[in-house]
Amino acid sequence: KDNALLGPAEIRELAERAGIRPTKTLGQNFVIDPNTIRRIIATAGVEPGETVLEVGPGLGSLTLGLLDAAERVVAVEIDPPLAHQLPETVERFRPEAGGRLDVVLSDALRVTELPAAPDALVANLPYNVAVPVLIHLLETFPSIRHGLVMVQDEVADRLAAGPGSKVYGVPSVKASWFAEVRKAGVIGTNVFWPAPKIRSGLVAFTRREKPLAEVDRGTLFRVVDAAFAQRRKTLRSALAGWAGSGAAAEEVLTRAGVDPSLRGERLGVEEFARIAAAADAPGP
Ligand code: SAM
Repeated sequence: KDNALLGPAEIRELAERAGIRPTKTLGQNFVIDPNTIRRIIATAGVEPGETVLEVGPGLGSLTLGLLDAAERVVAVEIDPPLAHQLPETVERFRPEAGGRLDVVLSDALRVTELPAAPDALVANLPYNVAVPVLIHLLETFPSIRHGLVMVQDEVADRLAAGPGSKVYGVPSVKASWFAEVRKAGVIGTNVFWPAPKIRSGLVAFTRREKPLAEVDRGTLFRVVDAAFAQRRKTLRSALAGWAGSGAAAEEVLTRAGVDPSLRGERLGVEEFARIAAAADAPGP
């Protein structure tokens, strides 16, 4: 059958063939529902000419759908038996698509080179490293213009949150430094094998065409980490350690035009960028 996607029977058979038992440490929950795959791909807005980066292809559920929608798929998988079996699975279910797949056996947190520059990232991310993987890939591969990731639902809410929201925090600010981020749906637990305990959320993003400000990314992220490390403190005291003293923090904040008595959770990414720029600018 032409566009058959993997269901529960195929997934179990492929797991057995690979000789794996899904592990929690690697966040191995495989999608067994073709409708979920179709929904992810439709929501991701993958275009026929695109090269798509997939992190954690697992047994290939999403990979097959991506090969139908895109020109090329680069799949980064950390688990050797899964990485080794993937080309075989594609050969079996999409014999014509084999030449359009690259499998990279690697930790997505560390990967710095890919066989082709990806236009998009579409992935059902391993849950325990979802945020650092997303940030690392946005940082390392500027060719990624848009994408859709499936993560734990609460992480999806955090990534898409803005200032004022209870769940606004470090992931929200870092993601929005690179991209405009929105929550694009919720996925129940029964579409996976094995079923996770909590539901999943879809997060869609579009990279900002121009950086929000000319600032050093390292400085910016250090400010953000410090501001949220002590959520209940004012910026003046939360940034004291980073700036050297409360007075130094106050001086930088004032030059940035940010009220030192605010808490970090009130600031948008543009204001964090102003603080980073003020810190890196020569002092008065
Ligand atoms: N894409 C498949 C699907 O939707 O059925 C599997 C998704 S499963 C949630 C996560 C996958 O990521 C697993 O295949 C796991 O082995 C892989 N993985 C876990 N940690 C990884 C890492 N650091 N780098 C690359 N892949 C990783």
